[in-house]
Amino acid sequence: MTRSPLHILKTVYGYDAFRGPQAAIVDHVMAGNNAFVLMPTGGGKSLCYQIPAIARPGMGLVVSPLIALMADQVAALRQAGVKAAALNSDLQGDDRRALWRDITAGDLDLLYVAPETLIRSDIMDLLRRTRLSLIAIDEAHCLSQWGHDFRPSYRQLDGLISQFPDVPRMALTATADEPTRAEILSHLHIAESDAFVAGFDRPNIHYAIAEKDNPRAQLKRFLKTHEGESGIVYCLSKRKTEETAAWLCDQGWTALTYHGGMDKAAREINQTRFQHEEGVVMVATIAFGMGIDKPNVRFVAHVDLPGSIEAYYQETGRAGRDGLPSDA
Ligand code: ADP
Repeated sequence: MTRSPLHILKTVYGYDAFRGPQAAIVDHVMAGNNAFVLMPTGGGKSLCYQIPAIARPGMGLVVSPLIALMADQVAALRQAGVKAAALNSDLQGDDRRALWRDITAGDLDLLYVAPETLIRSDIMDLLRRTRLSLIAIDEAHCLSQWGHDFRPSYRQLDGLISQFPDVPRMALTATADEPTRAEILSHLHIAESDAFVAGFDRPNIHYAIAEKDNPRAQLKRFLKTHEGESGIVYCLSKRKTEETAAWLCDQGWTALTYHGGMDKAAREINQTRFQHEEGVVMVATIAFGMGIDKPNVRFVAHVDLPGSIEAYYQETGRAGRDGLPSDA
């Protein structure tokens, strides 16, 4: 039995109504059209592809850059009764064979795949043997060669879409700048008329900027207003994240670091702690960003100037995804 999007919204997610442009986007994709979705963090992009994927016949393919993020999404969907799975290089042996069986049998609503995995020829063969309801490319700005989240394998997704020209494709991002948007549309052959651009106001985030003057004292004052809450402190250099985190720990905070110089395992441990514990201050370079899926990040502080206004918007946008008051 096929279910209507609104019915899925209510029964699977427990929400009464679509928010902002969600209804228009879902209708557009339900009708078989492509879509480009530009919505601020916390705006509700996931439902825009998950609901059509569940409602349309076949399996929705979701390209997602981070394994940790996929795992969280899949767990939440399964809990809600959706047949979702993630295919990545960590999956081996019997688990992998069982998943391939589910895919070919048409038993899945949603399959999350990392771009590096997807472009392998055996995976493409596998996908050709099943029916796809849509292809959703999450964090689509990763294909932009000019952005700091650039992932080379995202550039090869045009090969994927050319294999499935009749499957509706969606590109989703919160990155607002115009060149990135144009690059996504042209690379994925999505028409301007398929673009949905939501407003960028984040009314629950309070922004304040102060001239740098004894930054440690300024940071301490700021953090005092967020005792017991989780948030991010952005620094420009790896060394500064280490020094700042050590100093915060001395001052009695639970502070962790995240930067590109740390090995993968150490980064993952800190990201997981931040995600699941409360009252953690993550002191990070911009390497900590994409895929932060924590709804109750209460503050984002920059102790150094961000790279651009767009970067500032994106970085501070990680605060307050739950809609509650937050500080930048
Ligand atoms: P994004 O990917 O755009 O950052 P998400 O898809 O993670 O945002 O959604 C952000 C939050 O808003 C999630 O907690 C989600 O469950 C909630 N949400 C999304 N759509 C609705 C809706 N129509 N009604 C109520 N809450 C919603």
